[in-house]
Amino acid sequence: MIRLHDTLAREKREFIPQDPKRITMYVCGPTVYGRAHIGNARPYVVFDTLARLIRREFGEDSLVYARNITDVDDKIIASAAAEGVDPSVITARYEDHFLDDMRALGVRDPDIAPHATREIAEMVAMIGRLIELGHAYAAEGHVLFSVPSDPDYGALSKRDRDAMVAGARVEVAPYKRDPADFVLWKPSTEGMIGWDSPWSRGRPGWHIECSAMIRAHLGKTIDIHGGGLDLIFPHHENEIAQSRCAHGGAPLARYWVHNGFVDMGTEKMSKSLGNIITPGELLAQGHKGETLRLALLSAHYRQPLAWSERLLEDAETILRKATDALRFEETFPAVQPETRFISLLKDDLNTPGALDYIRVKTRKVRALASAQSFGSPFSAYRISGAELLSAFEMLGIDRQSILGTLDEDQEITDLIQLRDAAKASRDFATADRIRDELKADGIVLEDGPGGTTWRRG
Ligand code: AMP
Ligand code: ZN
Repeated sequence: MIRLHDTLAREKREFIPQDPKRITMYVCGPTVYGRAHIGNARPYVVFDTLARLIRREFGEDSLVYARNITDVDDKIIASAAAEGVDPSVITARYEDHFLDDMRALGVRDPDIAPHATREIAEMVAMIGRLIELGHAYAAEGHVLFSVPSDPDYGALSKRDRDAMVAGARVEVAPYKRDPADFVLWKPSTEGMIGWDSPWSRGRPGWHIECSAMIRAHLGKTIDIHGGGLDLIFPHHENEIAQSRCAHGGAPLARYWVHNGFVDMGTEKMSKSLGNIITPGELLAQGHKGETLRLALLSAHYRQPLAWSERLLEDAETILRKATDALRFEETFPAVQPETRFISLLKDDLNTPGALDYIRVKTRKVRALASAQSFGSPFSAYRISGAELLSAFEMLGIDRQSILGTLDEDQEITDLIQLRDAAKASRDFATADRIRDELKADGIVLEDGPGGTTWRRG
């Protein structure tokens, strides 16, 4: 049984999908006008990990995961104007960067990646429906959602009205009936990107995008809706209101899951504060994607995560020790992760617990790499090693990245050490096997008074 913390219920709830053969999950994707920073990457790594867990529990084909691309937005329009190019040049460039960064972090592509600019008709239809039902009104080429028309507005963020108006930093525009009303459609000026609509040649507001794309691709009510904490208000509150009001009261999502911020000690990592580090920069410094991923998973997803050199070093150590413990065999069988490891993830994605498991398991595997067990194909070493690898795989770190990273000289020295240990415990069969295996690879061992040396024969 998977348990998830639901922001709306404010507690952990057992995850029971509407249809276990078609579980639906939507995560708000990036606005593609600049490079994503490592904080932006956190939700995508977290929800990728959740997707892996759901697929393991309910079946590989059980999940439909959608992550949108916001490719029309005022910041995109501003960047395009600054560079003197079409907005599509900006969005194509940064979407490519985003996808490269995600892949480097081991984030699988979602099943569906809807783009706002390709779904305008859906948005116009939903806005039309909201107007018909009295939940929205057109004024001066704009369409606004009428917050007072929705008595349930505010349930997700539990804010009172004044805090909502202040928090949304909404302009008090003359065409608004209520200061809390928010934009569904806005007019574009001459030459600016825009689409025809019954109200003006214009473009959609950000919130309606997600509501319309969810409806089009996943349905009226989805199982899981995710994103960073900062999206709870106003973005998700507004998505809920639009969708519920357009769909006769059907709730938009059954579980609302939000990740905490990556911060730089005290301040949230954010573009506007100028304190960002991008995955691209970290990779260029020589950090591996697996290290970044593990670092992002080292705190519980709801907790803040302070980004630091130390955090990266700790993640690197976990990976290096696992590589080191697993170097005595070339291949390991495919096995299921241990139940107690899976149970940690099923408890609201307890990734810090999962990392503790990996640390302890690594020590055990290292201890089993003793001369006695070495060599037997079904040894405790191989089984434990395989379990360790499958635990990494559940976290999205593939076995090849853990096996195959030691340099060859190091491996030879390690094998010689292991052979010395075998000889010391009078396990000459193992000692001979190591020597023969090395010989088959063209490495000749020479035992002398000062110990064993090696050369390429
Ligand atoms: P944006 O492209 O700004 O819409 O952000 C993409 C995702 O990153 C959203 O789910 C945000 O909530 C999330 N996010 C933004 N900044 C941070 C941060 N410092 N730490 C964690 N998540 C963040
Ligand atoms: Zn959204």
